Amino acid sequence: MPEDTTKGCCLPGSEASHGSESAKRLGWHEYFMSVAHLISRRATCTRGHIGAVIVKDHSILSTGYNGAPAGLPHCNDSNCRIYRTTHPDGTVEENCVNTIHAEINAIAQAAKHGVAIRDSDIYITASPCIHCLKVLINVGIKTIYYDKPYKIEHIDELLRLSGIRLVQVDMLTIQKD
Ligand SMILES: [Zn+2]
Ligand SMILES: [Zn+2]
Repeated sequence: MPEDTTKGCCLPGSEASHGSESAKRLGWHEYFMSVAHLISRRATCTRGHIGAVIVKDHSILSTGYNGAPAGLPHCNDSNCRIYRTTHPDGTVEENCVNTIHAEINAIAQAAKHGVAIRDSDIYITASPCIHCLKVLINVGIKTIYYDKPYKIEHIDELLRLSGIRLVQVDMLTIQKD
């Protein structure tokens, strides 16, 4: 393991105040994916907690997590309303009817505040479902960065036909580096 030359900073005494803690600087992918994971902790649906961050030129434009529309009751163990969808290949997917997905909430937040997100990238803690992918294509997202795969086989064809890029940012691998 090479010696870490990035520890500390130029201020006198900084070494003492930081102690022996690693001061490894986050890369951009790790930074935005870490933000997406933090945002996912606001999610309310018991089906799963997902976070999304829309980014352009290394700036965060919008964020979202999955949950009920503003002002409506949050999901909990008793009111999560699951519906099942059968895909053309026969596999069955379960979703909650109360919930807006994180990616769509990030797009809605941008729309609400008049923030242009064309030609942006998005960081999502899980790969998008086919419905969100269709919207991401139409708002002009260029690259989708995701951490955990979610039924990626369902979006293969749409990825190929649309040309939108899907790239995994595996946080477990990054943290071991
Ligand atoms: Zn729910
Ligand atoms: Zn979705």
